[in-house]
Amino acid sequence: MFTWRRNWRDQLSKPLQVDDTEIEIRNTTKFLGVTLDSKLSWNEHIDQKCKKAKGILLQCRRAIGPSWGFNPQTMKWIYTALVRPTLTYAAMTWINGLYKQHNLAKLKSVQRLANILITGALPSTPGDPLNSITNTIPIDLCIEEEAALGFLRLKSNNQWRIEPMINEKGNLTTHTKLCKKLLNGSKMDDKVGSGVYIPDNGSGTPVELAFHIGEHSTVFQAEAYAVEQAAKLLIDGGTKNKTIIINCDSQAAIKAVDSTIIKSKTTQRARNELHKLEKDNNVLLRTVWKNALRQRSHRKMRERWKDMPPHFRTVWRESYTKSLSNLGKNKLRAATQYLTGHCELNYHLNKYKPKSISKICPHCSMEEETMNHFIGQCPMWFNRRGRFFNCHYASVSEIADRFPLRKIVGYICSTNRFNQH
Ligand SMILES: [Zn+2]
Repeated sequence: MFTWRRNWRDQLSKPLQVDDTEIEIRNTTKFLGVTLDSKLSWNEHIDQKCKKAKGILLQCRRAIGPSWGFNPQTMKWIYTALVRPTLTYAAMTWINGLYKQHNLAKLKSVQRLANILITGALPSTPGDPLNSITNTIPIDLCIEEEAALGFLRLKSNNQWRIEPMINEKGNLTTHTKLCKKLLNGSKMDDKVGSGVYIPDNGSGTPVELAFHIGEHSTVFQAEAYAVEQAAKLLIDGGTKNKTIIINCDSQAAIKAVDSTIIKSKTTQRARNELHKLEKDNNVLLRTVWKNALRQRSHRKMRERWKDMPPHFRTVWRESYTKSLSNLGKNKLRAATQYLTGHCELNYHLNKYKPKSISKICPHCSMEEETMNHFIGQCPMWFNRRGRFFNCHYASVSEIADRFPLRKIVGYICSTNRFNQH
């Protein structure tokens, strides 16, 4: 029970009771793992989840050193498979809490910590460039995706009931006679399988079927095959005069079935069955919105690009996402320092310890040791630059344009400049 009344405690003449048991009055309570607070602000819930997630990550930090411990790939897996789901759990109920700055900041700081553990970045490194480096969706977009998916899942199962459950006559509304299907094709251990799930095929009993369709099929074929099988099942069951919604994972499969030119036999068969089903029913084919949601996230990320730090925008190239995911611990650390500009060069170290470290380059004492100076200008690395880049003086952006990340990281690692502190 919630109330927005200000002085309800005084107005309460006697304690709340259910069957003679007194109900304790509290500001927060936990229900199915979600902490509800008296104002439905979700602050408490987000607080608790963040604390728990940080606890796990700090445990991991003890198991990671500069050169030993989990590799970046394992650490990323720990975050995305174990830690992040605890943050996004039941997102659709508390999504409103996300739009308060202080809550968002807490969630972001968890993701930043995880990214620092993955990349070995310096503690001052901002979160957004790190998201690009580790190829992680920003946490707020990830939670929105999760919330939308949860909503669609419930909606397609008819379990999302905002409308009143009782009709005018006072009876409970009968189970909606809509037929809904959840189709699924998935590739596991290189064997492709697909499945059909029909919550109600007209007789009120759910139907569940799984197929195994050989080792060399694609997920796309699995999806199309499942569409075909679902249509067959419904025709055989004598379904008539119903609205049928087929939910399908793959947008590609739907487009193919819908298009005028049919390229594969599987698609052709799926389409034939759908046409038969369509004669007596109203058929709707639609995607489970996972891909569409991911595309939305990517679009939003591109919109946020202008908020990235200037140095990062200068040196980042789209193709890096792929090469970064294969780098080992040391190289990823060097690459992160180079890309974010938060590195162990004197110009930046000076910000940590302004008194003991000067900004000037220790090798040539000619100018400040910035990333631009280190990569392209310092005479100390004159010969090395010749060897790696075939030129002796260049700017950071020129080098980023002309050479793959692997080569730049090779140059940085060979100088050993980032490992001296
Ligand atoms: Zn220098």
